[in-house]
Amino acid sequence: MYDVIIIGAGCAGLTAAVYAARAGKSVLVLEAENIGGQISFSPKVENFPSIKQISGSEFADNLFEQASALGVELELERVTKIVDGEIKKVYTEDGVHECRCIIIATGVKHRQLGAEREEDFVGKGVSYCAICDGAFYKGKTVAVAGGGNSALQSAALLSGMCEKVYLIHRRDTFRGEQAKADELRTMPNVELVLNSIITDLAGEDALTGVTVCTSQGGECRDIPLDGLFVSVGQIPENSVFADLVELDESGYIVAGEDCKTNIKGIFAAGDCRTKSIRQLTTAAADGSVAALAAVDFIG
Ligand code: NAP
Repeated sequence: MYDVIIIGAGCAGLTAAVYAARAGKSVLVLEAENIGGQISFSPKVENFPSIKQISGSEFADNLFEQASALGVELELERVTKIVDGEIKKVYTEDGVHECRCIIIATGVKHRQLGAEREEDFVGKGVSYCAICDGAFYKGKTVAVAGGGNSALQSAALLSGMCEKVYLIHRRDTFRGEQAKADELRTMPNVELVLNSIITDLAGEDALTGVTVCTSQGGECRDIPLDGLFVSVGQIPENSVFADLVELDESGYIVAGEDCKTNIKGIFAAGDCRTKSIRQLTTAAADGSVAALAAVDFIG
């Protein structure tokens, strides 16, 4: 039996593992897909304090090595169910593990556009995070796809550093705030491409442009681009916890800055919980908060 089981080996989960292990607790991390989480797909990280530049995969590798050196165990198993009790049970596709408390750090997945070849260009012109990767497109031409607040904010941010920003949205009204959209309309280097769907991505080794067609399936045009920022929402993956842990209407685990859920001894850390800023730094912060709360709970 473990003191702490952490579900998810992204920045939040592995930071929690480091803190719990350093507090002398036995820790098992369960990861369904890739160690390191979302950051491992980011070509460069330049906004983590004291690290001027590092690749996302190296950041993830370092964090994993740090946790492993402290005796943290990791299994590549997909969690299917958790059961509460004085001894908590975590069921996976491969078996069941027991522990005193659980930290859920399952992160989110960026929703994809669904365009053909989109995955081929990730890190080669296609990005899901303007804050993380925008600086790499300084002075260049980019597009943002989406019509929510994230897309509007990304377009505004990029307009300050890029030569030209296209905002491509499938409808003629925005889901995001009117004021943000109005502000974009005043920016000389921002062009709104509305009622339009990206139908194709162009390029050999890296993205060179997109084809957009009107939503009604009419006219199409090619737009040459250096980068495409896909900002069409995020998807939390918390449905397996829904029987036990409270989720909000969007599927995020309801937990505040203390990372406590509605169930004693079950904590939520990082992007999977209700919060307004989802960044590497806030994931690391949550990991430490959740781990120390877990240590306190175990006593
Ligand atoms: P969102 O509000 O869900 O918006 C997603 C946008 O992507 C929508 O405009 C949607 O189009 C479009 N979309 C979805 N799937 C698409 C597809 N396959 N192809 C093309 N377009 C697609 O997501 P978000 O912008 O990431 O925001 C998430 C939440 O965080 C929201 O509640 C938002 O208000 C909040 N947020 C708030 C702030 C703030 O400053 N207050 C900042 C960022 C985010 P349709 O509109 O046609 O459905």
